[in-house]
Amino acid sequence: MWDPLKRKVTNEKTHSKKFFNYLAVMRVLSDSYRHKGLRKQLVEGIRSKGITDDRVLRAILEIPRHFFIDSAFDQIAYEDRAFPIEEGQTISQPYTVAYQTQLLDVKPHEKVLEVGTGSAYQAVVLAIMGMQVYTIERQKQLYDRNKQFSYLRGFPAIRYFYGDGYQGLPTYAPFDRIIVTAAAPVVPEKLLEQLKPGGKMVIPVGEGKIQQMLRIHKDEDGVIHEEIFDNFSFVPMLQGKNI
Ligand code: SAH
Repeated sequence: MWDPLKRKVTNEKTHSKKFFNYLAVMRVLSDSYRHKGLRKQLVEGIRSKGITDDRVLRAILEIPRHFFIDSAFDQIAYEDRAFPIEEGQTISQPYTVAYQTQLLDVKPHEKVLEVGTGSAYQAVVLAIMGMQVYTIERQKQLYDRNKQFSYLRGFPAIRYFYGDGYQGLPTYAPFDRIIVTAAAPVVPEKLLEQLKPGGKMVIPVGEGKIQQMLRIHKDEDGVIHEEIFDNFSFVPMLQGKNI
């Protein structure tokens, strides 16, 4: 059952970040029957944890998550857990991606702003679901790496930006939906401004190790409503860009 009041912590952080900073990503870009089978199991696991939106589950079934992770870890790409990528950052746990995407409650062709591109896995989930995706990353190395990742060229609906998510993307605002995939100490004012009346934002908020998943709704009169969901643990949303 999808139970918004259930309080449980999903850990997005990993312990060996520094080590992974030294590795360049070696990607395997072939999708075998074995991978597909593991993906099916992953989707069933996520479904049993309470994700009911079939569009989200179908997207996860379709995307070869092992493409996004160093080939050395190919075997565990379909375990339901977060995983280190470069720059001490993480690819979110598939359950977390599904949870946030389901809460976002998207409709086809909507304009979605994502803060924290990371591996671009979440951006691809949204693109497969028919969204126009604008995604911002503050780490130059991750931004550059995504530009060279050939699989992502199959998703022209995703536009990548190198910048500070606290500023949003004023040139492209307003957005129907905003999804923040890093832990914000508070809901950033500029993101609220860039949300369309009638729009929704899903964002993990909290200063400590644990954040609460919030869904913000801006009604047609511009009044802000807030709903609180489960606890998670994300990497922090940091100020400014990193070269
Ligand atoms: N959505 C990602 C998960 C990324 S982890 C995925 O699917 O893989 C969070 C990401 O947010 C990290 O890459 C981190 O560098 C980025 N980040 C943190 N603070 C940010 C900010 N102020 N602006 C943009 N990106 C930010």
